[in-house]
Amino acid sequence: MEDCIIIGAGPAGLTAAIYLARFHLSIRLFDCGSSRAALIPRTHNHAGYPEGITGPDLLARMLAQAELYGAVREQHEVTRIEPLAEEFAVHADGRTFPARAVLLATGVVNHRPEGLDDALHGEALQRGLLRYCPICDGYEVTDKRVGVIGTGDHGMREALFLRGYTADVTLIAPGAAHELDEHCVAALDDAGIAHIDGPCGRYAIEGNRIAVDTASGTMAFDSIYPALGSRIRSDLAVAAGARASDDGCLEVDDHQRTSIPGLFAAGDVVKGLDQISHAMGEAGVAATTIRNMLAEQRPLRR
Ligand SMILES: Cc1cc2nc3c(=O)[nH]c(=O)nc-3n(C[C@H](O)[C@H](O)[C@H](O)COP(=O)(O)OP(=O)(O)OC[C@H]3O[C@@H](n4cnc5c(N)ncnc54)[C@H](O)[C@@H]3O)c2cc1C
Repeated sequence: MEDCIIIGAGPAGLTAAIYLARFHLSIRLFDCGSSRAALIPRTHNHAGYPEGITGPDLLARMLAQAELYGAVREQHEVTRIEPLAEEFAVHADGRTFPARAVLLATGVVNHRPEGLDDALHGEALQRGLLRYCPICDGYEVTDKRVGVIGTGDHGMREALFLRGYTADVTLIAPGAAHELDEHCVAALDDAGIAHIDGPCGRYAIEGNRIAVDTASGTMAFDSIYPALGSRIRSDLAVAAGARASDDGCLEVDDHQRTSIPGLFAAGDVVKGLDQISHAMGEAGVAATTIRNMLAEQRPLRR
C-alpha cells in the first residue's frame, strides 16, 4: 500500500513527487510520456532562468531532483482509479496498485490545426512559427505579424490578448466561415484586428515564416497561434465520480481536493492558469494537504 500514487510526471506531478518524497512518504509516480512542457522549445517566463530553459531540460531537472529523494518515474498509462472504502486501487500495466491517496496531474492536450502533419508541426513549434500560449510567449511576437486560427468568443479573446503585443493580428476561421457575433466583430474592428474566413489549411514553412491557405489566399506570418481549445485529461477522475466543469476541468477546493475524499488534482487538469508556475504551486498545496490528511489518519513518526 503506497501513501500516494501520482498520475502524471509533468511540472505538477514532479513537484508533488519532490514534496511527498521529502515528507518521507511512500509514492509511485506513473507517466505515459506526453507532458505539454516537453513541447516547450524554450520558456522565458518561468522564473529563475533568466536565459530561459527548454521544457525537456526543466522536466529532466525536476525528475533528477525527485529521484534524489527516492522517487521513480514508471512509464505506464493509468487506465482506472477505483475508489474503495478506505483506499484507492489504481490500475496500470495490467496490475492493480493500492494507495491511501491519489493525485491526478494529467494535464491537457491542445487541439492542433487540421492539415498540419507531425513533422511540420514539430519543426514549426521548435522555430516559434507555431505557438500555443500567448501568456507564455506573447512577448516573443512583439511587433511581429501574427495569425490566430480560431473563431467565436475564444478566438476573439486570444486575438485581443495578442493585440497587446503587436498591431498586426489576423483572426482566421478554421472552418469555412467565422462564427462571430456582433459584439465580437465590433471588438475586433475596434482593435484593428483583421478577421478572414477559412477554411484554412495547407501549411508550409517559407523562410522565417509560416504560410497558410485561407479563403483570401495564402498568407504568411511570423507566428501562428491555434486557439482551438484543448482536451482535458480528467477522464480517469470523472469515471471515478469526481465533479468536473462542462469543459472537463476538475473541480477542486482551495487545498486541491476533488469531490472524492482522498483524490486530489493539480496543474492544467484543474481550471486555472495553464502555466508551469501555477501547476507547481497547486502541486505543492496538494502534496502538503495529502501529508497532513495522512498524518491525521495515522501519525507520521520516524
Ligand atoms: C508549446 C507550449 C509552450 C508552452 N510554454 C510555456 C511557458 O513558456 N511557460 C509556462 O509557464 N507554460 C508554458 N506552457 C504550458 C505548460 O507546458 C503547462 O502549463 C504545464 O506543462 C502543465 O503541467 P502539468 O503537470 O499540469 O501537465 P503536463 O505537463 O501536460 O503533464 C501531464 C503528464 O500526465 C501524463 N499523463 C496523462 N494521462 C496519463 C495517464 N492516464 N497515465 C499516466 N500518465 C498520464 C502525461 O504523460 C504528462 O507527462 C506551454 C505549453 C505548450 C504546449
